[in-house]
Amino acid sequence: MLSVCKVFRFEAAHSLPNHPGAFKNLHGHSYELHVCVKAKTLNDQGMVMDFGDLKRIVQREIIDEFDHSVVLKKESLLALTLMHSDQKLVLLDNDPTAENMVGLIANRLMSALPEGIHVHFLKLWETSTSYALWENDRD
Ligand SMILES: [Zn+2]
Repeated sequence: MLSVCKVFRFEAAHSLPNHPGAFKNLHGHSYELHVCVKAKTLNDQGMVMDFGDLKRIVQREIIDEFDHSVVLKKESLLALTLMHSDQKLVLLDNDPTAENMVGLIANRLMSALPEGIHVHFLKLWETSTSYALWENDRD
């Protein structure tokens, strides 16, 4: 099994209403997303996947939606308040922790990648010292 990886960045705001500390307040992060995909065999060009194709898929499926958005839990007070505004919202079933966000990103990418190419792992960096890791234990 071989992997290739690309790094992406986006800016987003979120709040964790159930957090006992300051994270319940709306605040922003410069997120960094590491996307690693794997394949059992290389293609005719000797690649797991063309870096340009990977870039286009992640940009279209993830970055365009998340960049400069407000990421909130559906039905949270803040989501209900902003729903009819012109704010760009990404709504999750759960609190928008790095863990839940990277899980959503994994699901989106798994269904968008070409046949035979799988997400190997994803790292979503919320700060320069903290990230959530999603590892593929199925394929
Ligand atoms: Zn935060």
